[in-house]
Amino acid sequence: MSSAEGSIFQLEQDEELRIEVDCPKNEVVTVELRTGMAEIFGTEMVPNNQYRFHTGAKIAIFTFQGCTIVVRGKMDIQPYTSKETPMIMYLNAHAALEDMRKAAENDTANQKENGNRGPVVMVVGPSDVGKSTLCRLLANYAVRMGRRPISVDLDVGQGAISVPGSIGAILIERPASIEEGFSQNAPLVYHYGHKTPGHNSPLYNRLVSRMADVVRERLSANKKSEASGVIINTCGWVRGEGYNQIKHTAQAFEVDVIIVLDQERVYNDLVRDMPSFVKVIWLPKSGGVVERSTEQRQIARDQRVKQYFYGPTGNLFPHSFEVRFSELKEKIYKIGAPALPDSCMPLGMKSEDNQTKLVAVQLTTRDLLNHVVSVSFASATEDLIMTNIAGFICITDVNMDEQKVTILSPQPRPLPDTLLLLSDIQYVDSS
Ligand code: ATP
Ligand code: MN
Repeated sequence: MSSAEGSIFQLEQDEELRIEVDCPKNEVVTVELRTGMAEIFGTEMVPNNQYRFHTGAKIAIFTFQGCTIVVRGKMDIQPYTSKETPMIMYLNAHAALEDMRKAAENDTANQKENGNRGPVVMVVGPSDVGKSTLCRLLANYAVRMGRRPISVDLDVGQGAISVPGSIGAILIERPASIEEGFSQNAPLVYHYGHKTPGHNSPLYNRLVSRMADVVRERLSANKKSEASGVIINTCGWVRGEGYNQIKHTAQAFEVDVIIVLDQERVYNDLVRDMPSFVKVIWLPKSGGVVERSTEQRQIARDQRVKQYFYGPTGNLFPHSFEVRFSELKEKIYKIGAPALPDSCMPLGMKSEDNQTKLVAVQLTTRDLLNHVVSVSFASATEDLIMTNIAGFICITDVNMDEQKVTILSPQPRPLPDTLLLLSDIQYVDSS
């Protein structure tokens, strides 16, 4: 039903309203909960609040009890309601994880190995099946039960925690904001430098192992988190080497549960390949998940970087300043020398070693312009690859004549006294 003040949707219990926001670029679509109760990807809506969404957002408003929703704004694609959702199955998966958390709490007295650690769950599946959405849902339901899980994002293509080209982990202390996602308080981030995990598989696997070790340390330092466990989001690469990376991740994090979305082949392969104490479960994808083109993924990546510097709502004001080449000398590196066939490697070295080697970056326009650069916590090169990073800067101009660069940075000058890692990810700052 439509009225002058927006479209009104009446949802029955267990129904969802799907909205693909395609309004003009500088406009927003708002949604409001008028009566009843509803949630968006596991975060409860506050009645009569106007939630604002920009073009490109794809959301589902789900209700267990029934509700009335008002949608306002210009849209070509009309929102629609659906009763066919896997939400009850997702809720059951959450309930099973919750049982494991209760068991972990009660095991504290027994001192079993890993007995007091809650479930480490990994969500896998091909592209566009709702992996990130399910992780968000599970984390939201856990935190709403008073849990404090750690959320790990290994999808270097999108980088929901920090920016693309990195992997990250955060402690979840409150439900995600409907408009801005989970709060990014002190994330643990490692630099990878590429947008696909296959670009440098040895490095990717090493960083995943490192992340797993540090997450384990953090769990054992916090009883509440330990019983809450870990929720791991992965990228959609499930074939060939991608499948090997999944197995490596499972082993590194000592996962207890793997949820496979949509693809039965991956499910069957994992049932065969995982040790019997790993529960592998299959869940269907939601019909509401919208596929994204390569172009839309690129736009999403750019938006992620922009958000890092300018804030989710343009609420941050980054600094821009010049830095002389001399200040960057012996300070900026990248990981991985160009691949050589094994036959060309020095005796006793494998090409894999080359891929996890530090290489000093050439100070040229071609190598630097518009590149995102990680600011490490490390100040010695031998620690650089395996040390987490403090944040990012972007090189927005290179002046070869005057031998200096312009840098976009969340912090004012000077550059911190630590080392920098160049990423393949490029961002053109037009703000
Ligand atoms: P990728 O392979 O890119 O990592 P993914 O498997 O993680 O994708 P999501 O990012 O979770 O998939 O979902 C893709 C898009 O579909 C997102 O924009 C998400 O908000 C949207 N979406 C997920 N579930 C629904 C739903 N039930 N109704 C409408 N939109 C949805
Ligand atoms: Mn995803």
